[in-house]
Amino acid sequence: MKNKGVLIVISGFAGSGKGTITKELIKRYDNYRVSVSATTRKPRPMEENGKDYFFVSREEFERMIRENELLEYTEYVGNYYGTPKKYVEKMLNEGKDVILEIEYIGAFNAKKAFNEAVLIFVTPPSVNEVYLRLKGRNTESEEVILKRIKRGQEEAAIIDKYDYVIVNDDIETAIEDIHNTIKCSKFSSVRNGEFVAKLKNEFDEFLKNY
Ligand code: 5GP
Repeated sequence: MKNKGVLIVISGFAGSGKGTITKELIKRYDNYRVSVSATTRKPRPMEENGKDYFFVSREEFERMIRENELLEYTEYVGNYYGTPKKYVEKMLNEGKDVILEIEYIGAFNAKKAFNEAVLIFVTPPSVNEVYLRLKGRNTESEEVILKRIKRGQEEAAIIDKYDYVIVNDDIETAIEDIHNTIKCSKFSSVRNGEFVAKLKNEFDEFLKNY
């Protein structure tokens, strides 16, 4: 029997490098798949429908909610974002490890829906580094940067609810740290409940027949 894959949730401050890490994991290892979210936000230049997001109308998103097609969803800065359930379940059943790159409300809802989900929070080593990385992108005004730092303050308050914290000081190390963390999580007792139950049964049977 093929083992089910792991549902991995990656969150992190803006500028944490979580997007790059996810892309590299997909490129380097065959076991990962990334879930494409649905959103009602308008596409940014260069964004492709079906690749970056499924861009849908509010009506369509609300239909997806009603018909229970989403594993989790949330409203974030005036738009809906959600994870289509079908793809994730199919990939997990095929033994693939599925990555959701989502914010924390969605992360905790995903954990409620999937108790075995592994929650990973990625962060630069300091707040000053968060600021410098946002500034270095040269795409955001000082006002937007400040908004994101404020959002970061909110996020910092709930990091301890994640299973793992990865400090991205060096991107190569962070990629390998996340890969190894996911590998280790496969050995957790929660994920191996069926096997443990089988062993217990075997002991009972063995002693009955001895
Ligand atoms: P952006 O509009 O910048 O692409 O994304 C805004 C926020 O929504 C990011 O924190 C991103 O991680 C989060 N996000 C993207 N997709 C999903 C999703 O499917 N569910 C949830 N809960 N958050 C998402």
